[in-house]
Amino acid sequence: DSPMTVAEVAKLFKKETADVIKKLLFLGMMATINQEIDTDAIELLGGEYNIEVEVRAPRDEEAEDMLVEEEDPSILVNRPPVVTIMGHVDHGKTTLLDAIRETKVTATEAGGITQHIGAYQVEINNRKITFLDTPGHAAFTTMRARGAQVTDITILVVAADDGVMPQTVEAINHAKAANVPIIVAVNKIDKPDANLDRIKQELTEHGLVAEEWGGETIFVPISALKKQGIEELLEMILLVSEMAELRANPDGRPRGTIIEAQLDKARGPAATVLVQNGTLKVGDIVVAGMTYGRVRAMVNDRGRRVKEAGPSAPVEIIGLSDVPHAGDQFVVYDDERKARALTEKRSNKLRAAEMGAQTRVTLDDLYKQI
Ligand code: GDP
Ligand code: MG
Repeated sequence: DSPMTVAEVAKLFKKETADVIKKLLFLGMMATINQEIDTDAIELLGGEYNIEVEVRAPRDEEAEDMLVEEEDPSILVNRPPVVTIMGHVDHGKTTLLDAIRETKVTATEAGGITQHIGAYQVEINNRKITFLDTPGHAAFTTMRARGAQVTDITILVVAADDGVMPQTVEAINHAKAANVPIIVAVNKIDKPDANLDRIKQELTEHGLVAEEWGGETIFVPISALKKQGIEELLEMILLVSEMAELRANPDGRPRGTIIEAQLDKARGPAATVLVQNGTLKVGDIVVAGMTYGRVRAMVNDRGRRVKEAGPSAPVEIIGLSDVPHAGDQFVVYDDERKARALTEKRSNKLRAAEMGAQTRVTLDDLYKQI
């Protein structure tokens, strides 16, 4: 996976060197026979020749920037857990998210209006918890397909009157694959036909054994509708979060993940991001997927303008040149030229993949490689 000369690439592709040089020219690269070309160029060439090129390891400077650098453990501080809610349709995910938001946010906020930005934070016993508003399922599939891991803890909602259903099992599998701890919220406990033990029994068959039955899984009976058990659930989240030892460096290089994004008629591309390390500030130059820009404004989940956002904070940012994808990772650059170069490189790669008849290359492959 080291850079190769034009001659070596020609040999590898079983093509004439002159032809390779011509193709390179067509791709906008002037190269001589003994010149080394990088993996990007080799991939682009592969596209031209319909040859699949597999890049083993990212090795360009920008790719290395995207890797999470090891932080000195002594400077890491605790950060709030990031929680998603999963479960079968109609088992009460949305009602639970609303119940948490209403009991913990609206009641304590003057004005009481919360902004819908795709995620929100609540505070309990002076400690914060971040909830992702996106359906947990999407948070796992879309984001993980792009290599993003945003969830620290997942709440599995199971309706006490309905029991384990296909999407319940699917949720368990997603969480297990991602190695994310599960807390079971047995919902609709207010219903006359609710049966907590039946849910515990059914989940045992999927490897989730309740603590009181000798297992390790926390079960919290709740009624999202009647707002019962919400505080207990939040306390259990904090307990699990403590054991998970979630840390970040607020002074490190700011990076994180796009939670959702759309084009706002008045403000342009607007993206809700989750800061995962460092502190994102207004004025920062951000690269996210194929787009970059300077953060012009940030709005928190209470609809307030903020100047900075630290680890685990969800915040909406304005200022990107284009709309990024959910699951794109962002990183802050101190050099606008570098930021532009990286996004151009990515766009070129995508264009080459689209132009070439390579059906194998998907967008997600591209992200993995860069
Ligand atoms: P989702 O599809 O998982 O998001 O489920 P929803 O939150 O939309 O809830 C589905 C239905 O169940 C709605 O009619 C809710 O009012 C109802 N529901 C949710 N939680 C409870 C609960 O704790 N008790 C009762 N009785 N109904 C609930
Ligand atoms: Mg819903």
